[in-house]
Amino acid sequence: MEEDGFLRFYETLSYLNLVYIITLGIFMIQAIESFTNFVPAFYKNMTKVCPNYGGCRLVQSKVVEPDDEKREAYIETYCLKEETYKLCKRYITRKSLWICPDFVLPDTNLTEDEIIDLYEKKEKQT
Ligand code: SF4
Repeated sequence: MEEDGFLRFYETLSYLNLVYIITLGIFMIQAIESFTNFVPAFYKNMTKVCPNYGGCRLVQSKVVEPDDEKREAYIETYCLKEETYKLCKRYITRKSLWICPDFVLPDTNLTEDEIIDLYEKKEKQT
């Protein structure tokens, strides 16, 4: 009689272990699937943002554009998408001249030569 009880208990325990292992397996499969979906999506989103975003003084300070609304509009318009950051004059200037002076706004009409001239003039004044 006591042996029957032990066997039933043992069977129940084995059954619970099996349920536990299956549940854990399903959870792990879902976790792996979520991770493998998340990584490419995360990488894809990251590559859309301008590579200068982390160090750009327009984004990271109020020096280039003190007006919060205008700065947010610039960020929204230029910084977050690959097809728009490539049109940003600050991005273009930094790529070709290796510098981007604070007076250069994303939509400025200044040419690279004008930017260099203005930059040199400002440097002489300081
Ligand atoms: S898009 Fe222009 S303003 Fe935005 S982070 Fe890049 S360089 Fe700076």
